Formats: sequence, C-alpha cells, structure tokens
Amino acid sequence: MNIDKFQESMYQLIIETSTNLPRDVRRAIKSAKERENAGTRAAMSLDTITNNIKMADDKVSPICQDTGLPTFKIKTPVGANQLVMKEAIKNAIAQATKDGKLRPNSVDSLTGSNSGDNLGFGTPVIKFEQWEKDYIDARLILKGGGCENKNVQYSLPCELEELGRAGRDLDGIRKCIMHSVYQAQGQGCSAGFIGVGIGGDRSSGYDLAKEQLFRSVDDVNPNEDLRKLEDYVMENANELGIGTMGFGGETTLLGCKVGVMNRIPASFFVSVAYNCWAFRRLGVAISMETGEINEWMYQEGEHIDFGASEAELETAAVAETAEQTDIVTLQAPITEEQIRSLKVGDVVQINGMMYTGRDAIHHHLMDHDAPVDLNGQVIYHCGPVMMKDEEGKWHVKAAGPTTSIREEPYQGDIMKKFGIRAVIGKGGMGPKTLAALEEHGGVYLNAIGGAAQYYADCIKSVEGVDLMEFGIPEAMWHLKVEGFTAVVTMDSHGNSLHKDVDKSSLEKLAEFKERVF
Ligand code: SF4
Repeated sequence: MNIDKFQESMYQLIIETSTNLPRDVRRAIKSAKERENAGTRAAMSLDTITNNIKMADDKVSPICQDTGLPTFKIKTPVGANQLVMKEAIKNAIAQATKDGKLRPNSVDSLTGSNSGDNLGFGTPVIKFEQWEKDYIDARLILKGGGCENKNVQYSLPCELEELGRAGRDLDGIRKCIMHSVYQAQGQGCSAGFIGVGIGGDRSSGYDLAKEQLFRSVDDVNPNEDLRKLEDYVMENANELGIGTMGFGGETTLLGCKVGVMNRIPASFFVSVAYNCWAFRRLGVAISMETGEINEWMYQEGEHIDFGASEAELETAAVAETAEQTDIVTLQAPITEEQIRSLKVGDVVQINGMMYTGRDAIHHHLMDHDAPVDLNGQVIYHCGPVMMKDEEGKWHVKAAGPTTSIREEPYQGDIMKKFGIRAVIGKGGMGPKTLAALEEHGGVYLNAIGGAAQYYADCIKSVEGVDLMEFGIPEAMWHLKVEGFTAVVTMDSHGNSLHKDVDKSSLEKLAEFKERVF
C-alpha cells in the first residue's frame, strides 16, 4: 500500500470528522428543531447549534473546540502492516493539530503538561481488527470531555433514585437507561445520543457501549428485544423535559443504540456512553492498493446544510428586532447593581473583555494573585483552539464553553477573592457557587455548549494571554467580544434553572418506575 496516500486519507478523515457533522446526525438535529416550540430557550439554543454547524462547514473549522480523545477503529485485510499504519495515523493527528483542526488535548496525567500535538502514551486510541475483506474500514470518533464525563456504568442489581430496584433483566436495563439520561442533565451538551452495552466486564462493557455510537442513527436493531428497548427509550426519554442544554424543552435524546454481549454469572453491567449533539464520527473505506479513500460512511441521504432560506432570514430578522428589547447588554467591568438586577431566564449580550479560565487557572488562583485585575470582570470557562500567525499574533479558531461543574470547589471563593461578577460556562454549577452568587452579587451565564464557531465569531480580538505554562486550552486568554449571547441560569437571588430542571426531571423519572415496554 502507498503509505503516504494512506496518511493523507487519515488526515482527510480527521478534518472531515472535526468540521463536518455526518448526515444521520444532521437529520436527528433537524427533527429536534422542528419539534421545539418557537421562542423558547431550547429553540434559541437549537438555532445557535444549527448556525454553528453551518459556520463550521463554511470555514472548515472544528464544530466544537473540544475535539476529545481521537479514537480510531480500523479493520484491515490479513497481512496489512498495522505498525506502519499506526505511525501514519499519528503523523496525520499531529498535522491536523498543527493546522488548528484538533485542539491539543493530550496531557500528562500526573503533571498536567500538554504534549501540544495530541500524541502521547495512550493518545490517540487506535484499535485494529483483522477481517476477510480486501479493503480497510477506518472509523473515527471525536468525543469531548463534557459528554465523556457523563458516561455511567451500573452493576445490577442496584437501587436507583425514584426508580427503585433495577434487577438483572430487561426491565432493570430499561430503568438504568432512563436513569442514565436523567443523570446527564444538560451537562453533556444535550440533546445527546447514547450507546448502551449490556454485559461484558467493566472495560469491555464500556467498549461495547462506545461501539454502538458507530451505528447509524437511523438503523434498526436486528435483535427484537433490543429494538423494542431502543424504541421505548426514544419514545419516553424526551418526557423527562431536560431539553437542549438542560434548559427544558421537547428534546432530550436524539438517539439510543443498545448492544449485548455475554458476561460471567457473577457480574451484570449496563454501561452507557453519552455523546453530545456534536456527534462527530465518520468512516471511510480505503483501498489496500492505493491507500486512497473509495467511500465515505454515514453520508447517505440528502445533505442538510442548515443554511437559512430567504424567507427564514426575513422572519428571523423580524423576530430578532422584536426580541432585542428583551436582551440585556452588559459591558465589563460590571457593577454589583447591574448583576443583582438580572434574574434566571434573562438573555444577556456581553461586549468588552472576558478572560478564559479552566481547571488549572481556578486551581492556581486559589493560592496566587491574578495576572490581571478581575474586579467586575467576566470569567469564561473555555479552552479554545488557537493559532498563531506568521507575525506571532494569536487567532481564535474555536471557542465554545466547557463544563462548569468541575470548578465548583473553587468558583465561589475565586469570585469573592477577585470581585468577579459573572461566570460563563455550560451545564450549571452547584450549591456552593449558588450561595456565593447570592452573597457576593454574581451570576452564572449558560452559553450554548459546542457552539464553538458561533462564539469564536463573537471574539473580535485576542488582547493577551497569561499562564501559558498550563498549555493552550488551560491558559488565561484575554478576549475582546461583541454580542456574546448567553442565558442567566443562576442568579444572585438564590435561583438556579439547573436545580429546577433537575428536580422536575427527577419527578418525571419516578413515573417510569412501573412503565414497561
Ligand atoms: S459539544 Fe459539549 S460535550 Fe460535546 S465536545 Fe463540545 S463541549 Fe464537549
């Protein structure tokens, strides 16, 4: 095989997977959009999501800034040299990272230092299998941390909140799957897709769950019991009312695929792999002779580009003008009085400066001074994809919010210590932060998870960067923004939309205790 051509094919697979959402996923998002009630926060989020998909298409840029842990599944004919192929894949990964199509995501687990090129022990994941066919089947999934952290594994029998005992049978499995959707809330950037693995051990069960994510969204399970189970989950999970981004709404789940394997008598695991709406997985069939791509997978059917028609643009312009009056504009530095006037549900638009801060920055700020004056300022939970031009100027390639709950141990203390007035992220925060918002006068703003192109477009310039020793995603970037839109989901009066949706969805979950399929 021509290994240079194979490397080029792998590079194309990576670029397409990061920037171009597959057609089966687009169909699912389109139907969710059609189901949603106009004018709701969920509808607004879905609009942002579809705009973002279109922008990623047009710019050939990452759909979401978190390009995850690249995971390849490759089937090769007998005799293929997998060692050489592995090297070619690593080269393609390093090149795609250099070109700003993947975020450098590989960090030393002990020191936290970032390798900078997505290569390192254990990254990327490349799984080979041999098969009898004469071509290579190569598939790739880019699954980000926000949804990866919402994966869950149940060891049956077990007791589930509001659902009671989940036994070692199909009904017990049904309860676990319903619970898995509830526990994810909006934190994995719902609406999401789930892959479920029944059986195996702890590691093979998760592998089986992830394997399901390689099935097409609209396929039909050949196992009749599992087909019924998948249909049941798809018909009922949306009743939980978690909705897009956990804002409430009609669509919580976009797809459910279940697989089964044998287990040992002593163990019974149900493993669930949760994937966000930015469900980036593609596949190619590659010629063994030439190394070139002969076919793309998951691309059957009509292409949905989410571009607005002229009539839609006109309606949107009218609606936008009508809504402008309801949008609160904030310019940093923000006063306590302005912040205390905000309440859950308000839509805000930020102009001026904001500063990124993720795990390393929050940990650092607990014991150190801030490199800039953060009084009245806005912290953005974001690990952007950045590129430096020839003159040494930084440009933002993708910059959506990251999961905020990881900063729960620090956030309240840091806001009080530095006088920060607003925090932007996704998925909401917990009781400690909510109490601090009330005491200090702060708000939590939920941006639309995964809308990395949409938000990158709101960033007008990169004014500086501090703490680069933490690596690109973890550094503190000083960003000047215009029209950065987000929703107040936790205010300074003790209100939290996340807490409310969690409570109402838990009450709904209780209704599934007895419902059988
Ligand atoms: S869409 Fe959300 S969960 Fe998915 S990779 Fe992006 S930030 Fe993570």
